[in-house]
Amino acid sequence: MNRRVTKSLYVGDVKIGGDAPVSVQSMTKTDTRDVKATVDQIKGLEEVGCEIIRSAVPDMEAAQALPYIKKQISIPLVADIHFHYKLALEAIKGGVDCLRLNPGNIRDGERVREIVSAAKERDIPIRIGVNFGSLPPVGSIGKTRAKHRLSDGVNLLPKAGDVTSDEYSVVDHMVDTALWEIGILEALDFDLIKVSMKAFDISTAVEAYRRLAKIVPYPLHLGITESGTAKSGSIRSSIGLGILLYEGIGDTIRVSLSDDSREEIAVGYEILKSLELRQKGAILIACPSCGRADVDVIKLSNAVDELLKGVDKNVKVAVMGCEVNGPGEAKDADVGIAAGAGRAVIFRKGQKVRVVDESEMLSALMEEVEAI
Ligand code: SF4
Repeated sequence: MNRRVTKSLYVGDVKIGGDAPVSVQSMTKTDTRDVKATVDQIKGLEEVGCEIIRSAVPDMEAAQALPYIKKQISIPLVADIHFHYKLALEAIKGGVDCLRLNPGNIRDGERVREIVSAAKERDIPIRIGVNFGSLPPVGSIGKTRAKHRLSDGVNLLPKAGDVTSDEYSVVDHMVDTALWEIGILEALDFDLIKVSMKAFDISTAVEAYRRLAKIVPYPLHLGITESGTAKSGSIRSSIGLGILLYEGIGDTIRVSLSDDSREEIAVGYEILKSLELRQKGAILIACPSCGRADVDVIKLSNAVDELLKGVDKNVKVAVMGCEVNGPGEAKDADVGIAAGAGRAVIFRKGQKVRVVDESEMLSALMEEVEAI
């Protein structure tokens, strides 16, 4: 897969863009003012491989909590700012590693310039976070006194899949919004820029990212916003992010789920592993089970999945429900288990290496994994 060539930058010590691997990030779901709860949640995310964390900064108390959070965590901290430019300045002062600014609701160019100057002084990158749900009114990009959100015209614009002619679309509006803010940053000779173009609608998000990817050199933060609960949101994110990543677009990802943030990290890595863009831990191949199965494959594969969470090496492990077809069907696996009646065959690359009693099959499988 040819990845898009981009400029690179660092968020803390995590490189984004250039030749860096696609990084996986998340956002805290605690009240940022509650330092302990936020730090606890971030530590839980660090444990599962979260590489960058973002926290919402809704008010000055939250902005002032950031330095206390930052000094207790090991991964870079991004301050998520909407509406109030003074919160951005306070976050920069507090030592955050990156800012996320929403051009839909900080629309005064002068204030953006003030933030950029402060970020430039400290070499802090800025993510321009364009979001379908909070775009500036149509015809009023960069204007502070504009129409009310309910009459801003955004919902009347055709989405990517509905455009029939060269009429102005939501994608045009998203791209124009990003370019407006990029222009301000570039005019100040600031290029520590990354951009996101999030929407719930997959075709709109994909099209917006594709368009921007062609016209700016900056790394892109991918996300399908408000994508849903663990199951539906994982599928929606996998499709949206999967299309873009497969085309080589995307330098860091966040899977948004209405669930535990740790789940967002797990899904993020699964997406990258599926596309062979990142290898974090073992890959589990599990048969779906069928009438030939000699064991409860669902239970067994979940048990193996749990055990593999502690494995860091690049290894494909298969759990198959029968001895006859299992090893052949999973011959791509480095090691696997094919359960039979009361016993199990351990195989490597499709070749049988051991036969063990059913009661020992999990420990035998893990021994083989360790031995690789
Ligand atoms: S490995 Fe065996 S049990 Fe599993 S799907 Fe294939 S034939 Fe069915």
